[in-house]
Amino acid sequence: MATLTKGGNKTATTKNGKMENSEFHEFFVDELKDIYWAEKHLVKALPKMKKAATSPELAAAFDKHTQETLTHVDTLEKVFELLGEKVAAKKCDAMAGLLEEANGIIEDTTAGTLIRDAGLILAAQKVEHYEIATYGTLRVFAQNMGHADVERLLSQTLENEKATDVALTNVAESFINERAAAE
Ligand code: FE
Ligand code: FE
Repeated sequence: MATLTKGGNKTATTKNGKMENSEFHEFFVDELKDIYWAEKHLVKALPKMKKAATSPELAAAFDKHTQETLTHVDTLEKVFELLGEKVAAKKCDAMAGLLEEANGIIEDTTAGTLIRDAGLILAAQKVEHYEIATYGTLRVFAQNMGHADVERLLSQTLENEKATDVALTNVAESFINERAAAE
């Protein structure tokens, strides 16, 4: 049900009776398509990063996060469903660039070195920070629009991205950065 408010913004009434700006809803869904594209591409990129890693610790961290990223994809599909929207992906230029950068690091470093791992961690943490920024904002959008169920799901993913960032820092600080500097 679309109506026009005084300001000329289109609004719609949601299931819970809240008035919702339909343009904002559309923007929100568009941004969900963007992060959906990003997550789907990460599912393919993380195993490549795992293969390129030198230390078994970093390989294991990438392996773990590949599984978690599959869950992020599923979670977003659930979000589209809850919003009554079709599941769709839209190219995320930022993630495409970050993954290109990760490939560049693999090309520029020697296999079997810890410099390679230090570089991979740098690339992976840039990705996690991008995801943290995205989910942090989308979570607030969902909250403001009265989609408590969607907000909960996005918050779950947000917490997982934050934990991944911390885990990568721990791997780096445990030995990689120090030994990479000595190589
Ligand atoms: Fe993710
Ligand atoms: Fe992630």
